[in-house]
Amino acid sequence: MAMMEFFGKQIAGKLEDLGRKSTLNEEDLKKEIKELRLLLLEADVNYKVSKEFCKELEAEALDQKILKGLNPGEQVVKLVRDKMVELLEGDNELSLTNDIIMMVGLQGSGKTTSTAKIANYLKRKSIKNKPLLVACDVYRPAAIDQLKTLGKQLGIDVYSEDSKDVIDIATNAVKFAKENGNDLVIFDTAGRMHVDTQMMEEIKTLQKKFNPSEVLLVVDGAIGQVAVDIANQFKEYVGITGLVFTKMDSDTRGGAIFSVKKTTGIDIKFLGTSEKMDGLEEFVPDRVIGRILGEGDVLGLIEKAEAMAEEEDMEAMANKMFSGRFDFADYLKQLKMMKKMGGITSLMGMMPGLKKMDTSKIDEKQLVYVQAIIESMTPFERVNPNKLNTSRKQRIANGSGTSLQQVNRTIKDYEKAKKAMKQLKGLDMSKLFSGM
Ligand code: GDP
Repeated sequence: MAMMEFFGKQIAGKLEDLGRKSTLNEEDLKKEIKELRLLLLEADVNYKVSKEFCKELEAEALDQKILKGLNPGEQVVKLVRDKMVELLEGDNELSLTNDIIMMVGLQGSGKTTSTAKIANYLKRKSIKNKPLLVACDVYRPAAIDQLKTLGKQLGIDVYSEDSKDVIDIATNAVKFAKENGNDLVIFDTAGRMHVDTQMMEEIKTLQKKFNPSEVLLVVDGAIGQVAVDIANQFKEYVGITGLVFTKMDSDTRGGAIFSVKKTTGIDIKFLGTSEKMDGLEEFVPDRVIGRILGEGDVLGLIEKAEAMAEEEDMEAMANKMFSGRFDFADYLKQLKMMKKMGGITSLMGMMPGLKKMDTSKIDEKQLVYVQAIIESMTPFERVNPNKLNTSRKQRIANGSGTSLQQVNRTIKDYEKAKKAMKQLKGLDMSKLFSGM
């Protein structure tokens, strides 16, 4: 099953519709955002989080004058994507300063499975070579056997004792790890059906004694809204350093990842995506959002919106050229942009007076020396090219490691570009660029 299927189908579908809208007035926008908010709620994103998300979205969409621009639907979709990524962003990498990780969470959340998965992941990536899994769940006998079985299957060491004293076991395990050459110790602590004081006291004591670099809270991604309460309770008792959301593959709505991250402020480190040992993904917000929204055409729409932002950049530049404030720094920016947007060459070829600008000759090498030359100019020289006499040019050539001839050529090309751009005056630039 696809990850966070509800998101992929319902929300991506909604965004796809929205993205196709070529006009959008303020009222439409508000209506669309309201509908999106309902879908977020249905996807298990908590009420407060959805509300705040949509409120900000609306304010930003109105503020950025998206509605008056081209393809407002696409722009709003891009904004939604960006805001989702932003919401999930944080420190997503494990910190392993003292080589101890403690796994905590409720029973059935996937704690034991995730313990083994993380060890396996770190080993496979050669971040750690010889992890040791420690069976600290002494209340559920099957938990110890489960960990042993997983360890055996993966070729990863497991430490367990018959004792019921968890602190003793953990102390002995750390000692054992030193003698045995293990470079990482992971405590699989005991879970409970509900958050209870005894469990919390136990992990609190372990935390005080061993000060693990990571205390990872494992949360069943399919439990929905209650995830927020559970995470908050754990956070209050013991400082949680990271979240692992499991069962993201099951028919989970997945919105809990937004709610928990936003309300607790704890960063997400991993997602569990199958029962199998390789079903663990490092959490990269950009990628996750890309995947869940990527079911339909949403990503294509976003790409188009991004291309448009570049066009707007060019338009701004063109306006600058017309107003005569086109300096060397602008010229360099223009060269880079033209290089990137190869399409403009053919387009310019069709414009009278622009044939002389052969952008196919813009190569990387030229960009490098033009940049060096421009950087060797003083700010005064950059905006007053006509004041560049031979001695100034020679100084620039020396400073940029180029020749006087190259400096002259750069100045000439710049003047040509400036002149060519002046001839575009009177043309409707927005039409020109939107056609690209
Ligand atoms: P614990 O009680 O917290 O240690 O939970 P377990 O590790 O025993 O996991 C409980 C159940 O969830 C087991 O059947 C696991 O196979 C399953 N499970 C754990 N993680 C995932 C996951 O990411 N995806 C799926 N589909 N199942 C998972």
